[in-house]
Parts: sequence; structure tokens; C-alpha cells
Amino acid sequence: MSYLTKNYNRKKISFKYGKGSYLYSTDNKKYLDFVQGIAVNSLGHAHPKLVKTIANQSKKLWHVSNAFEIPEGEKLAKKLCKKTFADFVMFQNSGAEATEAAIKVARRYFYSIGKPKKNRILCVKNSFHGRTLAAIYASGSKKMTEGFGPKVTGFDHFTFGNHESLKKKITKNTAAIMVETIMGEGGIKVIPDWCLVELRKLCNKKKILLILDEVQCGIARSGDFFAFENSKVKPDIVPIAKGIGGGFPIGAVLMNKKVASAMIPGTHGSTFGGNPLAMTVGNTVMDIVSNKKFLKNVKNISKYFFFKLNNLKKLYPNIIKNIRGKGLLIGLQLQTDQTKFIKKLMDNKLLTIRAAENVVRILPPLNVKKKEINQAVKIINKVCKVLN
Ligand SMILES: *Cc1c(COP(=O)(O)O)cnc(C)c1O
Repeated sequence: MSYLTKNYNRKKISFKYGKGSYLYSTDNKKYLDFVQGIAVNSLGHAHPKLVKTIANQSKKLWHVSNAFEIPEGEKLAKKLCKKTFADFVMFQNSGAEATEAAIKVARRYFYSIGKPKKNRILCVKNSFHGRTLAAIYASGSKKMTEGFGPKVTGFDHFTFGNHESLKKKITKNTAAIMVETIMGEGGIKVIPDWCLVELRKLCNKKKILLILDEVQCGIARSGDFFAFENSKVKPDIVPIAKGIGGGFPIGAVLMNKKVASAMIPGTHGSTFGGNPLAMTVGNTVMDIVSNKKFLKNVKNISKYFFFKLNNLKKLYPNIIKNIRGKGLLIGLQLQTDQTKFIKKLMDNKLLTIRAAENVVRILPPLNVKKKEINQAVKIINKVCKVLN
């Protein structure tokens, strides 16, 4: 008997501890963990530097109110701004909070310049921005919103890749376009660089804001610090979360000066957001993953992994339909049943997770070793062979 609500379809497996890319189950089996808490544990399990950081800080100071200055947060915000397009940062605790805060910033900006009716957010149909009330309606997914009415209004939707539908949906009341640079839950669908460039141009022309949700694809996951970086596009607002805490719950909204000017005292707040313990952990993660050499490594190992996976696709065209993604945010779109495939990988001690469109999501830690990639490829090969 479990006293937990049944809102998750949990696999019958639990873990005692983890180390790097590996998880050790309570029934004493060793798994290669290519889920990593869904792109959360950027540095794998129990990274020595993170263990040390959290141990040291836990003896000093965990939490103070945002009524006071928090130097650890100042430090992390500065690092994020120096590394990216952003001029200002507002800390939260999760992805959904970050995307909702991003929406608040966009609306408040137009309010602050005397255009309060310009408040609608245009999103991709069946995208994912979190599970809070506004975020589920932002996602425009029937499944996620079912039974949670009344509808939170203020969101419009266009179809991924349909540029005509996108243009048609922009009205005089549109405040912002909000898209995931790489759709995660939606099936690892990458917005190509040229589309990002066009998207920015469109936003400029219509004088609306561009919000790029990098909660899953950001923080070095794509091989660049942000997945949009290579396009040279500068968004106005970027919510982040998952990877920045390395397993500690941290969310944040990055923004430019223009929109940040609307966030005057009293406009937003969070009791826990940006507390000293979280910020100290965030600083350590940031120092490691924003390093040029680290990012280059992610790119190199990603190239190797994609090469190996493409070989498997050639070997098993009846099993693997497509390989999607960028960096270490990888999706295998299957011809065969996703659930069965994931189960077989797990039976062979490789953990992966589903995404929409019959995709198996593969999310190694960003410091994954080549021999661990080889091990995963071997297991995927074996499962393809069995199911072929
Ligand atoms: C996971 C995710 C969220 C929500 O994050 P939570 O921490 O679960 O609230 C929002 N946007 C994207 C793109 C995500 O992948």
C-alpha cells in the first residue's frame, strides 16, 4: 500500500545511491542512468564538488528571506549575465515557476509602457512549459488540461513548424511568443537556427517579445550554454531550471534590461527562490558547465554518440525511424513500440525515458565518459537486435 497519490505511472524500481552515470538499485543492481532526473543532474550523481559545496554551505546558512541581500545569488546572477544575453535574473525554484514568471514579466512590461491589453502569449500546440494552471494552458495540450477548468485564458497556439499559422495567430494583443528552443516532452524537436533568426525578426517587426523556454535544453545540455546561442539570436526572456541546480531545485528567469525595468519592488516574489543553499550549489554547477573546455567536451561526446546511433539506425531501419536532438538531449524516434523498447533497455540496465511522438529520450550526464556511451550503444544494439 502506497500513501502517495497515483499521479505518476512509476516503474517498480528504487535506488539506494548513485555515482556519476550510474544508479544502484535497492535490489542491488547497477544501472547506467541516461535519464538523470530528466536532464536535471548535469554532472551525474554525487559529483564530489557538489557534495563538498552543499556540505560546507549547509553548516553556514540555508535560508534567509529575500527581504535581505543574498550575496550567493548576486554572484550566480552575475555569472549568468556575463555568460549570456541577459542583463538581469530573477530566481525561482522550478521550471513551471520560471515559465510562469517569464509570462508575468512579458505582461508586466507591456503594462508598464501603457499597453495593458497587450497580454496574450502565443505558444506551440502540445508544447510543455510545466504543470501549474497557467503553464498547462500555455502548453495547449488537451490531455494536460482535461478536468482542470475553468480555462486560464490569455494563450494562443500555433502548430510547430507551420510558419503561416504562426503569423496568422499574432494579433494586436499579442505580448510575446513563447517556445522551447528544443521541444523536450514534445519529442525532442529542434527549432533550426534559421527559424530562430526569422522568429526574432518577426518579433521585432510586430514589436512583441521573444521568450525561449530553455528549462530542459539550456545549461550546456545542447552543447552550447543555451540551445539558441549558435543562431546568434537574442531573446528577451529565458526561463531556466532543470540543469542549473545539478539536482537541487533551482529555477530562474533571465531577461534583458528593457523588460526587467517593469519588475519594480512588489511585482513578483518567492519565499524559497534564490536562497543561499540553492545559490551556492548553482554557483558550483555554473562554474563547471559554463567552462569552454567542458562545453567542447559535451559537443565532442555528442558527435560520437550521434555517429554511433546513426550506425544503429542504418542497421535497424525497421526499429529506429529517426534520431533527433542536439548535444546530449537525444531522442530515438521508433518504428516499434516505445514502452516495450524502454522496458527492454531497462532489463539490460540502461535507463531512458519516453517523450511524445514515440520517442525514447536519452539524457546522459554532461560529463558522461566515452566508455559509458559505448556501453549504452551496446545495450541499444542488443535490444534492436532482439526486437528486429
Ligand atoms: C520540465 C520543463 C518545465 C517544467 O519544469 P518543472 O520543474 O517540472 O516545473 C518547463 N518547461 C520545459 C521546457 C521543461 O522541460
